[in-house]
Amino acid sequence: MPLEGPPKKQEKKHSSLLEVGALATALLLQSHPQAKALEIPTDTPWATAIQESIKQSAKKETNEYLFTYLKYKDGSGKWMPTIEGTHGRVSPNFEEGSKQIKQNTLNEYSRITKPVEAICIGHTHPWQPHLGFKTSQPLTKDMLERRSQPPSEGDIKMVQKTERGYARQGIHSNIYGQLKYLAADRRGIWYFEKVADTDNRTEALSKEALKQFEQDYGALVIKSIDTESTDLVTTIEYKKLLESYQTNLGGKVRFVPYEKVKDEPPCAGVDFDATKKIEQHQEVYTPKHTN
Ligand SMILES: [Zn+2]
Repeated sequence: MPLEGPPKKQEKKHSSLLEVGALATALLLQSHPQAKALEIPTDTPWATAIQESIKQSAKKETNEYLFTYLKYKDGSGKWMPTIEGTHGRVSPNFEEGSKQIKQNTLNEYSRITKPVEAICIGHTHPWQPHLGFKTSQPLTKDMLERRSQPPSEGDIKMVQKTERGYARQGIHSNIYGQLKYLAADRRGIWYFEKVADTDNRTEALSKEALKQFEQDYGALVIKSIDTESTDLVTTIEYKKLLESYQTNLGGKVRFVPYEKVKDEPPCAGVDFDATKKIEQHQEVYTPKHTN
């Protein structure tokens, strides 16, 4: 379906700063724990949480949620409490989040008892009733149900701010492993990261780069509402969008449909090669979780 006009921004930018709204939400949730819509019991296996709770949240909730998973070196993992944001924005609470991470890795003498391989920080991209740009045909409900929402420009920018926010609380990658990022939409999860050597370029994104990215983003969204197939990764639009993240935003991205999350290690990240998963699956990935 061709676009009639240039696509508008898909969503508001994320802010890594703890905002008054988020703080109010956090306080409200503390006093009303039942009000939380996305809750993940701490020992839930990675794939179960993603394919059930998180998928449902992306499909049914109107607000974004932030979720954090500690991936330990022994192959096990733990979910930290979630944070509810607004429609289009959710921010980490670095102070509280860091406290939770330390509580689950250190003993009373601040020694690491459970070494961490990675800290996985994700957020949902909930359903939106509008595409944000015009299409030549009217949209049906089914089309909107299929709509994918890849990481936004704000998501890519957020990576460095999040890293700095946690670093200020003593959460450093040499101790706690790499911070990994993902966004969950109606179709699956989008791992994303920022490529370090493009810092300066993205600070002052050119208008052309941004416009090109929004066009490539819009093309993928259109493709997603047009196709029943979950395999977006085989489409030209997907390949173009991945290139666009790299050249225009200095970002690296990889999509995994919900059905395939179980075939990969927990929080596999952008660099995991899904085409080699069959060989690797037996040797490397031995889940320690029990249901
Ligand atoms: Zn996002």
